[in-house]
Amino acid sequence: MDKPLLEVNDLHVAFKTHGGSVKAVRGVSFTLHHGETLAIVGESGCGKSVTSLAVMGLIPQPPGKITAGSIRFKDRELTRFKSKEMRKIQGVDISMIFQDPMTALNPTLTIGTQLTEGIIQNKTARIEARQKALNMLDLVGIPNPKERLKQYPHQLSGGMRQRIVIAMALICEPDLVIADEPTTALDVTIQAQILELFDRIQKETGVAMIMITHDLGVVAKVADRIAVMYAGKIVEMGSKRDIFYRSEHPYTRALLNSVVRLDLPSAALKPISGTPPDLFSPPVGCAFADRCPFAMEVCDRVQPPSATVDDHHIVDCWLQDKRASRFVQKVEKKENEGELI
Ligand code: SF4
Repeated sequence: MDKPLLEVNDLHVAFKTHGGSVKAVRGVSFTLHHGETLAIVGESGCGKSVTSLAVMGLIPQPPGKITAGSIRFKDRELTRFKSKEMRKIQGVDISMIFQDPMTALNPTLTIGTQLTEGIIQNKTARIEARQKALNMLDLVGIPNPKERLKQYPHQLSGGMRQRIVIAMALICEPDLVIADEPTTALDVTIQAQILELFDRIQKETGVAMIMITHDLGVVAKVADRIAVMYAGKIVEMGSKRDIFYRSEHPYTRALLNSVVRLDLPSAALKPISGTPPDLFSPPVGCAFADRCPFAMEVCDRVQPPSATVDDHHIVDCWLQDKRASRFVQKVEKKENEGELI
């Protein structure tokens, strides 16, 4: 396999507050290759957006800080970059698609100005920039592109605005696009169109993508690999098949069980009881222990090690330790007898 485009290794990000330091990301590692889509999923506050902001160099400093770890992009160590150097990469080599197109676009500037300002700053001639903008609008499926360039964001529908935001992210031909909940603000039919658009653009341009989402339906459509985050850590990572059909981590399974299944009308929704831990003082052991029906004594005391289930399927859970199987059988028996909720 070719060298990864992006290598994140043991990344830690913390935010200083009056109440202490919030350890938002606690040792995240992953790689991403050209043309690949990695989806990062998890509950709100699990650290998925902070991880992507760290890659993009957008952690507000202070109060935020990358306290340890490395982010290598095209063989360059981004954590050592000054903000001036980082600005040359932002929007050019790595670009970002935000959740709400209305806040991502400037309401006082025309679509044409917003689309072309990045490439004009990048020393592209105006005529060439305009032509590129027209090509981009065509690529993202906007009808009458010449007319659209003269319009303002409020003159377009929500779906159109999100297409414009995608065009803005792609116009400098980046190697990596980070999409943070790109379809959350859209209704389901537009959502489906935007996901199809991502798929088509990726096939046509070969851009790599990190998709941040809490929506497993989105993940099922776009991801090649999935990283499941909990309390600032990746607890399971694998191919789409590994996560949807062969998940091993109790949190991943709980997450899958908490999704509405239209194909199983009688299946009751199983919410995940409890709440994530306080990241001011994260637990010394497994952060999911308080909510996990399989928790053992060791889980409270020691961080679970990373176990490789097969090839690229990695799980951080003590259940992967061979000695745990007898304990699991006992818990499953109790569950079947209705003793555990
Ligand atoms: Fe549950 Fe223990 Fe695995 Fe954590 S390490 S998910 S508490 S079994």
